[in-house]
Amino acid sequence: MTAPSTPLPWFPAAEAPGGRPARARAGGGLDRLVLDPAAVSLAGPRGQDQDAGYAGPGLLVVADGVGGNRGGATAARLAVAEVTRRAAAARADGTEAGPDAGLAGALAAADAAVRAAAADPALAGMATTCTAAVLARDGRVVVAHVGDSRALLLRAGVLTRLTTDHSLVQALVASGDLTPEEAAVSPMRSVLLRALGGSADPGPADLIAVAAEPGDRLLLCSDGLSGVVPAGTLQRVLGAERRPAAAAARLVMAALAAGTRDDVTVVVADVAPAGWSGSPGEVLVGSAADIPDD
Ligand code: CA
Repeated sequence: MTAPSTPLPWFPAAEAPGGRPARARAGGGLDRLVLDPAAVSLAGPRGQDQDAGYAGPGLLVVADGVGGNRGGATAARLAVAEVTRRAAAARADGTEAGPDAGLAGALAAADAAVRAAAADPALAGMATTCTAAVLARDGRVVVAHVGDSRALLLRAGVLTRLTTDHSLVQALVASGDLTPEEAAVSPMRSVLLRALGGSADPGPADLIAVAAEPGDRLLLCSDGLSGVVPAGTLQRVLGAERRPAAAAARLVMAALAAGTRDDVTVVVADVAPAGWSGSPGEVLVGSAADIPDD
């Protein structure tokens, strides 16, 4: 394998992913990489975890539900279940090779599933964020994203954020009406402009693609982590822990130490050579680990 690189070869959805076949080689030589993942979710003081997460050898998902009653937990669980199902189908039928790795359709299907289930008056208005990452057979990591959960990449010790929050405060920062420091403590910081389900149109998911390199470490998280733990701490912890599970556990502890009052979901995955024996297989956490009750 080649040495760690040059600047991060990522490109916004407008340019690619399809245009530049990351590093596809004849014979699919990069069907040699796999995710070595870990996931942890911890309910906040409310007691019911309204986050959900999935981590597997080719897919990572985090969803952060909102809605009273069982709504938030249900929306997050449905989104993770639908995206997981669609991503498996995309891998099986070859649509994973497309520009979006099949994820645009997966998030749209998750949105439809949440909206259909919200016909139940007890679940009316429920919504969820959804951030998903696929390690495709051609060596790309493709991220699809709606809401304010986040995907980040640690490469050569440097943490880069891949996603942009679809939140009111992010829009106000972009327009110059809030500073990032003001946004971090704003009482409006949980207001989402885009989500799956709910009243707002989710629009097409943001798509980001990166050419994966062995040694890359991915972090997907809900705002229960990223809302309270600074990026510098995330980078330090991710760089210090050898195993993904240890990094995930330490990040949850950092969120607790920072006084989070929210559910915290952390998915950490290393890009590793296929056959890497450290992989625990598939993990479902948060409300995704609950037996469906509806
Ligand atoms: Ca949250």
